[in-house]
Amino acid sequence: MLIVDSHQDLAWNMLTFGRDYTHSAEETRLSEEGSQAPIRNGDSLLGWPDYQRGQVAVVFSTLFAAPQRHKLGDWDTLTYTNSDQAHSSYSTQLDAYHRLVDEHPDKFRLVQTLQDLDEILTHWEQDEVGEHPVGLVILMEGAEGVRKPSELDEWWERGVRLIGPAWAGTRFCGGTREPGPLTQEGYALLEGMAEFGFTLDLTHMDEQAVLQALDAYSGTIVATHSNPQALLKSADTNRFLSDQVLNGLIERDGIVGIPPFNKFLRWEWTSSEGRDAIPLELVVDHIDYICQLAGDANHVGIGSDFDGGFGLQSVPAEIDSIADLQKLVPLLGKKGYTESDIAAVMGSNWLSLLRQTLPSSI
Ligand SMILES: [Zn+2]
Repeated sequence: MLIVDSHQDLAWNMLTFGRDYTHSAEETRLSEEGSQAPIRNGDSLLGWPDYQRGQVAVVFSTLFAAPQRHKLGDWDTLTYTNSDQAHSSYSTQLDAYHRLVDEHPDKFRLVQTLQDLDEILTHWEQDEVGEHPVGLVILMEGAEGVRKPSELDEWWERGVRLIGPAWAGTRFCGGTREPGPLTQEGYALLEGMAEFGFTLDLTHMDEQAVLQALDAYSGTIVATHSNPQALLKSADTNRFLSDQVLNGLIERDGIVGIPPFNKFLRWEWTSSEGRDAIPLELVVDHIDYICQLAGDANHVGIGSDFDGGFGLQSVPAEIDSIADLQKLVPLLGKKGYTESDIAAVMGSNWLSLLRQTLPSSI
């Protein structure tokens, strides 16, 4: 069963830690023993051989940089103090993806059009055991790199297909731990995004801004890596999605990607408990919560965020690499999901959304 993962910070890892995702997660862990990367970001869960074993056909791959006020140390190099620096950092990451696909076309390809997507899927569908290229859909996380809406043209041309206006707060809207509404610039950004057909990613936007965006944005809306707030009642944060937001997203035919991150599965979890404390069934509970709200299995998927600030040490014990997300298939079955509903959750919901939003050709 094919997996589509709606959130991985591949370029951030490639440029911050020198991670080479043509290698397996295990190879990366071995090569990083004694280095800073596993201390700062946990042991890697990602790599091309793992995508093959786990049938991960498409990955939404981010451009991400943090504002200087959130810099975590000297090692944290992709930070910015103004939009020119943000632009340059996001641009360097986009170049890194272009380089990756140019150097390894057998392993990774950019998905910018329907034709690109069809080529990837044909590969995976015609031969279950062969080696297949993984499709990368470019997602901009935090839009500070867009200096003015007229620049959206350039980002679209270079392959960006989804944009999340916030991570922390930006000049467009409030973000995680930094609440606030959509600003005038935020509204202008959304207007520009809709003209090109960018998909709007609500993840990290503050709820006030999300509710405004659900009203204002005429294009497709998703949340690539967010969990339902109702299952994290003790959390004092704006990082999760309230039922009001989830219902709004469902009404707009959006999709929520669930990250299997222990802290986001049970807020009380601490690393001292170890990864054994969180069973993989909790991921199914988060998926099921969205399905119960929607009344169907068409509005949820996986948005792992693996290697995005956490790694092996912070995911359920059944997961040794991304390939083990396939273990969700029997668990969803046990919960009563049909085969087609399971396929929807694992990947085909995101594929349908891509079919509706990607241009047929450039
Ligand atoms: Zn994020």
